[in-house]
Amino acid sequence: MKGYVPGYQPPDIASWIKLNTNENPYPPSPKVVEAILAELGPDGATLRTYPSASSQKLREAAGELYGFDPSRIIMANGSDEVLNNLIRACAGEGEEIGYVHPSYSYYATLAEIQGARVRTFGLTDDFRIKDFPERYEGKLFFLTTPNSPLGFAFPVAYIEELAQRCTGLLVVDEAYADFADCNALELVKNYENVVVTRTLSKSYALAGMRLGLAIARPEIVAALDKIRDHYNLDRLAQAACIAALKDQAYFADCCRRICETREWFTHELRGIGYDVIPSQGNFVFAAPPDRDGRRVYDGLYARKILVRLLSDPLLAHGLRISIGTRGEMERTLAAITEIG
Ligand SMILES: *Cc1c(COP(=O)(O)O)cnc(C)c1O
Repeated sequence: MKGYVPGYQPPDIASWIKLNTNENPYPPSPKVVEAILAELGPDGATLRTYPSASSQKLREAAGELYGFDPSRIIMANGSDEVLNNLIRACAGEGEEIGYVHPSYSYYATLAEIQGARVRTFGLTDDFRIKDFPERYEGKLFFLTTPNSPLGFAFPVAYIEELAQRCTGLLVVDEAYADFADCNALELVKNYENVVVTRTLSKSYALAGMRLGLAIARPEIVAALDKIRDHYNLDRLAQAACIAALKDQAYFADCCRRICETREWFTHELRGIGYDVIPSQGNFVFAAPPDRDGRRVYDGLYARKILVRLLSDPLLAHGLRISIGTRGEMERTLAAITEIG
């Protein structure tokens, strides 16, 4: 099989403006750094012993934040881990999973490892799923919302309709929900088959710590609990996670700045003739007037600005550009203007 190809991480990372993997341009909360150092202690002796296997304190912190009992929350070593375990738990050899194309193609790689079949659904011009059946009988359907790479979000009422039409689980991958106007958390309370996944990689600036979670009914959480690595979150990640979730003031300020910069950058790009999809994430999908994504990608690359060019023919007319600091986006805009 072919493996998934993650976004490029240049070795000389500090010399780039890196806008290709939707990382947060700001550092994590200072309380996160304090918590990691406190956990480590003066000599690192804490690392001799295994971390908590249940991540119970994290489940309590996340439960309090999102308004769920901890029995409905499972912590993961990045949300990628919980996506993998959902497929391992629910879709065996020859069984089907579905997702929207374009969205996060890693679902297909994870399914292939389990020998599960993959069915993709396209999008209509108004960003609804094309030909979604009245009853979808695949074991899992993954809905990335806000969508990456396009940035739009599905309305909650539409997600609810999909939940009613799925006979298996509807996994709502909300990796970018903290930058959006709405989310599907309420649906977890009302529909037994809805699972919401979240990550601390983007909005909490902790991609390097590998922290994610899923919220679902307790029976699903219990099933996922059986098949994960029992020590899936290391000690430092557990300390970081609690501190990050508790510092909501810092978090909210960070998200607000990114959304403001996103709106400014969208407006400016449109001013120079780019076609920009209104985004609910920390990135935009933007197409130059000549619809040649490669040309602009190369021009930016030569100026040490890294964005995401997707090889799929459906997406080659544009670029996915993560939202950095205001300064980084001003430099990126100047470079794009110069490239023409
Ligand atoms: C980034 C991303 C993930 C992975 O998140 P991690 O927690 O870093 O594993 C999952 N789904 C989507 C749509 C993403 O963009």
